[in-house]
Amino acid sequence: MAEINPFEMAQKQLDECAEILKLDPDVAAALREPMREVHVSLPVRMDDGTIRTFRGFRVQYNDARGPTKGGIRFHPDETIDTVRALAAWMTWKCALVDIPLGGSKGGIICNTKEMSPGELERLSRAYIDKVWQFIGPEQDVPAPDVYTNPQIMAWMMDEYSKIRGKNQFGVITGKPLNLGGSAGRGDATARGALYCIREAAKTQGLDLIKATVAVQGYGNAGYYIATLLKNVLGCNVCAVSDSKGAICCMDGLDPDAVCTHKAETTSVIEFPNTECMTNEDLLEMDVDILCPSALENVITAENASNIKAKIVAELANGPTTPEADAILYEKGVHVLPDFLCNAGGVTVSYFEMVQNFYMYYWTEEEVYERLDRKMTAAYHAVYETSREYDINMRQAAYAIAVKRVVEAMRARGWI
Ligand code: GLU
Repeated sequence: MAEINPFEMAQKQLDECAEILKLDPDVAAALREPMREVHVSLPVRMDDGTIRTFRGFRVQYNDARGPTKGGIRFHPDETIDTVRALAAWMTWKCALVDIPLGGSKGGIICNTKEMSPGELERLSRAYIDKVWQFIGPEQDVPAPDVYTNPQIMAWMMDEYSKIRGKNQFGVITGKPLNLGGSAGRGDATARGALYCIREAAKTQGLDLIKATVAVQGYGNAGYYIATLLKNVLGCNVCAVSDSKGAICCMDGLDPDAVCTHKAETTSVIEFPNTECMTNEDLLEMDVDILCPSALENVITAENASNIKAKIVAELANGPTTPEADAILYEKGVHVLPDFLCNAGGVTVSYFEMVQNFYMYYWTEEEVYERLDRKMTAAYHAVYETSREYDINMRQAAYAIAVKRVVEAMRARGWI
């Protein structure tokens, strides 16, 4: 299969949207490229005394609606084009849930599985030492993403605060609770998706009690969505996976027990009383709800016609290619597009920024309630738009988000 370039995919989605909105080609062109890119090289002292030089990026895509916002990924296969695509999607995501932020993304090419905590800390601080001029609470605010976590956010916040000579909690979100983090941020991506799935089940006439679910990926998003779907909505989570493979038990899995097993053995595979399968098999399972919750490009032109789920809830960023989108729409699969479905993470990150500015913190219930309102409104806006214009859910989400960004650019006199 030909390599799919995520940024080309993001641009293709945008082109489709420009056509639907009949955007002036000059305006569409202004939206196709990132506003700013920072490329850094990061020499880090490893535990064995040698120095290894890592490469990192920060892409700020568009800040018309406010400071840019987006996570930092630590991944061995990170590329500048992946970060560009993710920064573009962050722009549309923040606009879609109507929070006053633009979009950005960061990445470092590294394999966290082969690094000690000390090496990770030095790498995290080195990154901030190289990008601090370009970030800040009113400029660009990073957050966790694939293979980064609250501890890494704490080191980065500390490094930035040291450079600025004052505590700057608002420079980064997804921090630990005792260091300016927000209640509810840990499972926010999955909780946002949960609200979205709940609303989608209403419009699709799907009974969620015992509805069957397959979850691809068992990181922060995958683990929490499995737990929440089972415990809050009463679904039957019958398959989950990670990079090593998938496990299935049609009678239902206990997501917490699987998590403990993964912590002990490094993988979900070989969990007792389950059948083993591949990630590819999991995607094609005959379930009600499929949750791609890992990386990009897993539903493509090659497997889209084999997808049997009624609802595809994209907790990952970019799991479905534009060609696959068209096939799923044709088949009547109800897709909850990534920048709608996984917007809970950045929404609670925005709440965290607000709390940091105010130095006054909300309860978990307050966070959940505000998140629910945002996600429910966004889902129904996308659903109504898709019906009104007879376009798929992703195109509808794009239409709403891009229109908002264009309006802000126009009001500022940029276009
Ligand atoms: N990395 C998450 C995302 O892709 C969260 C970003 C944030 O909280 O700023 O949406």
